Amino acid sequence: MSKSKLTQSVHVGSVGDPLYGGVVNPIYTSSAYDYETEIRYPRYFNTPNQKAVVQKLAALENGQDGLLFSSGMAAIMTSMFAMLKQGDHILFQNDLYGGTHHAALNELNRYGISYSMVDADDLTAFEKAIQKNTKVIYIETPSNPLLKITDIAAVAKLARKYSITTIIDNTFASPVNQNPIDFGIDIVTHSGTKYIGGHSDLCCGAVVTSKKLVEKIRASAMHFGGSLDAQTSYLVERSLKTIVLRVKQQNKNAMALANFLQSESKIARVFYPGLKDHALHKVAKKQMTGGFGGMLSFEVKGNPDRFLKKLKLIRKAVSLGGVESTITSPVKTSHAKLSAAERAKVGISDKLLRLSVGIEEADDLIRDIQQAL
Ligand code: PLP
Repeated sequence: MSKSKLTQSVHVGSVGDPLYGGVVNPIYTSSAYDYETEIRYPRYFNTPNQKAVVQKLAALENGQDGLLFSSGMAAIMTSMFAMLKQGDHILFQNDLYGGTHHAALNELNRYGISYSMVDADDLTAFEKAIQKNTKVIYIETPSNPLLKITDIAAVAKLARKYSITTIIDNTFASPVNQNPIDFGIDIVTHSGTKYIGGHSDLCCGAVVTSKKLVEKIRASAMHFGGSLDAQTSYLVERSLKTIVLRVKQQNKNAMALANFLQSESKIARVFYPGLKDHALHKVAKKQMTGGFGGMLSFEVKGNPDRFLKKLKLIRKAVSLGGVESTITSPVKTSHAKLSAAERAKVGISDKLLRLSVGIEEADDLIRDIQQAL
């Protein structure tokens, strides 16, 4: 198969319809399969529509294999629990999706797993926080919502030195822009609800890693049971066929919007890894080989609620990664469950807005923001 992501996104995993000669994969709705050759079952993560998606994602992420889940959190938590046991320690970066952050605060200790959190851009802090029982380092880059960049290769190298497994949440970048396995990461997770689905109409999650680690995660995944049904798996496969086209346009639009916002006097700060003055722009350039992504955030000088109400084209909504541009206040949504003190610690202010840039004409998006300002 071609090394081109454009070709892979269309063709990998396609077996077509052998009965009628159709060009797309049929939706195999069976939950009961003949067991002689392989025991197939939706919750064993091995049904035909699940496999088609996994093959595409593994090709796009340069991994060996993967698993498809019913949500991003199912993918993240199953991977974590598969790698950890009572008495172990996990090291997180500070800037995380609110749901992951909240899960870390509320779930791990109950199972006898301890954790620490360190600044994403402070490699010495990572090394200092490693304990004898540290089994996993978990990073997310670019991070939600402040688009902080973690040096993937440096963290992976550090983890190898101590025989620690690395997990990354690659949701914001998408497999088009960043392939962490190339930089030494062990396990890549995605909220497929975002760029992989891409149309704000489904919820799924994915893991891509080595064959060996897939089997380890699958063993836990079969117990936790967060698998994805055949119909949604098919929709995910369909979505993936256009992921490269969508994400390239989103990259282009986001760059245009970041430049525009930076030149606007009513905007206090802009966070986008593609901007030359982003603290880790050079690292982003090295590891985001496909582009800087469609996510950016900014702080308005005025009242953020008044600004949001005036937007006409850009929709106020949770989630991200869809073809339509959406905007959200992290304080009210993704990070609402964190206390004000926890948010202040990671630098999320009331004036911060997170924009998920769609595939529309960039000038139309700029005009919408201009009139709302
Ligand atoms: N990771 C990131 C970066 C996210 O933004 C989200 C959801 O917003 C998740 C993980 C969780 O994914 P899901 O909502 O599909 O469970």
